[in-house]
Amino acid sequence: MANHEELFQETLRERGFRVTPDRLHVYRLLESSPFPLPISTVVEEIQSTGINQTTVYRILELFTAIGIVHPVLIGHGSVGYELIPPFRHHHHHLVCVGCNQVVDLNNCRLEQRVDEIVEPYGYKILYHDLEIHGLCPDCQAKEKDNAPNEN
Ligand SMILES: [Zn+2]
Ligand SMILES: [Zn+2]
Ligand SMILES: [Zn+2]
Repeated sequence: MANHEELFQETLRERGFRVTPDRLHVYRLLESSPFPLPISTVVEEIQSTGINQTTVYRILELFTAIGIVHPVLIGHGSVGYELIPPFRHHHHHLVCVGCNQVVDLNNCRLEQRVDEIVEPYGYKILYHDLEIHGLCPDCQAKEKDNAPNEN
């Protein structure tokens, strides 16, 4: 099987888009990140290449439109971008609303259940997203410490 970067280049070309250095920089950064990245972080990480925020914004918009990345809600209303299958394995996220920590949930077992839920609507499912928001063990411990004393 072709590696992911070749697949990325093929995907762009098939859709009639050129593989520009900027697009490649953004792709490589996303591929190297274990977490969804906000636009501001993408700009920060690769600004040494001379790329600007507008270009990053347009590239992420393009990547979203042609099915290379998707936006993920990562707490406090901010959005991060990450690669989707076949560029990255299918997974979900646990997001801590206390500290914004994002943990990958692998081994999705939702496919069959989602099929059942959607069946009456007659949709052909392309993909599903799911983020679960909660408090990580550390934030739960902090919350306990800060709780008003009941005596
Ligand atoms: Zn992820
Ligand atoms: Zn937390
Ligand atoms: Zn899933």
